[in-house]
Amino acid sequence: MSTSMTSAGKKLVIIGSSFGGVNTAYFLQHALGKDGEITLISREREFTFFPSLPWVIMGWRDPAQIRVDVVQPLRRRRINFVHSDVISLDASANEVRTEQARFGYDVLIIASGAELDYAAVPGLGPTAGYTHSTFSIDEAILARDALARVLAGERGRIVVGAAAGASCIGPGYEIVMMIDALLRKARRRHHFSLSFLTPEPFVGHFGIGGVGVAARLIADEFAERDIEVMTSVKIAEAQQDRLVLATGAEVQFDFSLVIPAFVGSGFVRSADGLANPRGFIPVTPELRSSRFDNIYAVGVAVALPPVGSTPVPVGVPKTGHLTEQMARAAAHNIASNLRGGRKVDGLDLSGTCIMDAGDTGYYISAQPFLPPRNRVIHKKGKWSRYLKLAFEKYYLARIRHDLPSLHFGW
Ligand SMILES: Cc1cc2nc3c(=O)[nH]c(=O)nc-3n(C[C@H](O)[C@H](O)[C@H](O)COP(=O)(O)OP(=O)(O)OC[C@H]3O[C@@H](n4cnc5c(N)ncnc54)[C@H](O)[C@@H]3O)c2cc1C
Repeated sequence: MSTSMTSAGKKLVIIGSSFGGVNTAYFLQHALGKDGEITLISREREFTFFPSLPWVIMGWRDPAQIRVDVVQPLRRRRINFVHSDVISLDASANEVRTEQARFGYDVLIIASGAELDYAAVPGLGPTAGYTHSTFSIDEAILARDALARVLAGERGRIVVGAAAGASCIGPGYEIVMMIDALLRKARRRHHFSLSFLTPEPFVGHFGIGGVGVAARLIADEFAERDIEVMTSVKIAEAQQDRLVLATGAEVQFDFSLVIPAFVGSGFVRSADGLANPRGFIPVTPELRSSRFDNIYAVGVAVALPPVGSTPVPVGVPKTGHLTEQMARAAAHNIASNLRGGRKVDGLDLSGTCIMDAGDTGYYISAQPFLPPRNRVIHKKGKWSRYLKLAFEKYYLARIRHDLPSLHFGW
């Protein structure tokens, strides 16, 4: 595969229809115009705004409010959509396979995220285990109904946590604070215990070594809310009414939600030489596979090494904001590679996060995303809840209508 070519007639195949896939498709289409044939393959016809799933669990959002169909918006921009599951990738033959067909490509962009590694902890997960989760509409509905049953009772023990190696722990922070806010508002907080169990060495570490003094603010917040915190926790097993920790200690619950670790998509794991042992794709700063010149990866599919060592493994979160920046950089670099031009560093990322706490919120921004940093911002206030709300509306409209990217994150 040559490292430079022209874009006319080139086949560009994208896998995934979430933050990585749809954004890459839009950015590529803008960069290439009518040149190049873009095909997006995904097992989902709809884009789900994942940051709102905690609101579904709280009963504050109807699932239909946070999903948009991607097929029409993509087709309006002359981007082909294939509704199918990619089952294998032959990188030496430049070919992706689904059950129904084979798709040859000149450039492949993998934005297939990850699979949930419930199997790593016996008893984990809402389908085969005893704990709830928040990585799909179906999971959020199950969690919502189970939580409502427990909150309707006289008393209860609520445990929110994350398994060793988890990287997307932020929603756990939101959910435990939102449950606290809901119970306080109903003047029933004193009938429920709330515990937060995390593999992080301290609350507010977030898999990125913390952000300025945000960790201290969040520790204070949890203390004020009487949320019991256990850090550097490794959950060994989940049973019907308890979590068994690696230390042998047990934490009993009436409702539990535990965020699992991720592993890469099956077709990525089985593609020869593409991924690391966990199934994530090592990339160059251009976001090209370190092994295959014509394969790019964006978002959760990308391998990012952990920040420092921690007593219990914690993954680096590849947030929606980061994913969108990667999509933009990958599209830019692919277009530059096809047509000539300057490349950008797709791993030089800034991170912004809006965390809803139910009755207040946090706005946290880190530039760059990983330490040491040039600038950090952390602000607390109800306004950040409204910002998150507004951002949800904007983002769904962006996917529907290809609105300009705000690029400041959420
Ligand atoms: C509850 C929750 C709250 C969050 N809150 C925030 C937040 O506040 N701020 C923030 O920045 N980020 C947040 N995130 C993170 C954000 O959602 C992710 O960073 C983002 O979804 C990553 O996008 P992605 O495209 O890389 O992967 P994914 O979103 O995982 O999408 C993968 C896509 O690939 C498709 N796919 C997978 N395998 C195949 C296959 N074999 N064949 C075909 N298609 C396939 C899937 O159907 C999907 O469309 C949150 C995530 C969750 C779960």
